Order: sequence, then C-alpha cells, then structure tokens
Amino acid sequence: MPIHLRPHHLICGLCFKSRGFRLSFLENFNKLNKILTENPEKKSIRIVEGLDDICEYCEKRKGNKCEKDPKARLLDVTYLDALELKVGQMISLNEAKAKIRSNLVLAGFQDICKDCPSREEGLCEPNFDALVKENK
Ligand code: SF4
Repeated sequence: MPIHLRPHHLICGLCFKSRGFRLSFLENFNKLNKILTENPEKKSIRIVEGLDDICEYCEKRKGNKCEKDPKARLLDVTYLDALELKVGQMISLNEAKAKIRSNLVLAGFQDICKDCPSREEGLCEPNFDALVKENK
C-alpha cells in the first residue's frame, strides 16, 4: 500500500527532527520513515492533495481539515511546483531526494518554509543541508 504524502511533507518527512510533538504523531511519523528508508528504490510514495498519512495523527487535523490551512495548502502548491511533481504521482524515496537536490537549494527551502515554526526553531535545516550534500 502506498504512503500518501502531500508535497510539503516530502520536506518535513525527510528533514524534520522529531521534538515537541505528541507520541502517537511521532510513532506514526517514524513508522512511515522506516517503511520508506527500508525500500528507498520502491515507488512507495503517492503524492496527494490535502490531508495525508502524516496528518492522520496530528493534533492540528480537525476532521478532514488542517487548522493551518490555507498556509499548509499554499506550501503544498509551492513545493509541487518547485519539485516538479504532480498530484497522484508515485515516487520512490530516492527519487524524492534527487528532486529535492536538483530543484531546491538551502535558500529556496528557507524562503518557502520561512513561516514554519519548526524551521525557525532549527528543527529541519541541518537535515535539509545533509540531504542536499548526500552523494556529493
Ligand atoms: S499541521 Fe496540518 S499539514 Fe501539518 S501534519 Fe498537521 S494536519 Fe497535516
């Protein structure tokens, strides 16, 4: 079964360092990460619009909505475009990483995610930096 990810969660999912979130959210987040890292070449990710498998355990999810909308949707649209992806597309973890490496630089990530508290706290930037430098 594919893992459903909204576009901006390709960045959160690969770069975010877990801290300050409730346990069920982190357990789910780590479980999804483990599935992806165990099969990095398999096209296990389906790009979706709106709530995804990470949102499922998030306290900001209210029914079928995110209380951070429209900001969350704007991030999705921006990353969909920046990473040259399409809703419904199936992609592997390694393909996602390659797209991030070839389409984004640190400045782009800092700009797109500029209003996110996790980025402001420095929870993502070291991992983003490491991801971009991976395989270089
Ligand atoms: S804040 Fe919104 S977009 Fe982010 S994980 Fe929670 S429900 Fe999903």
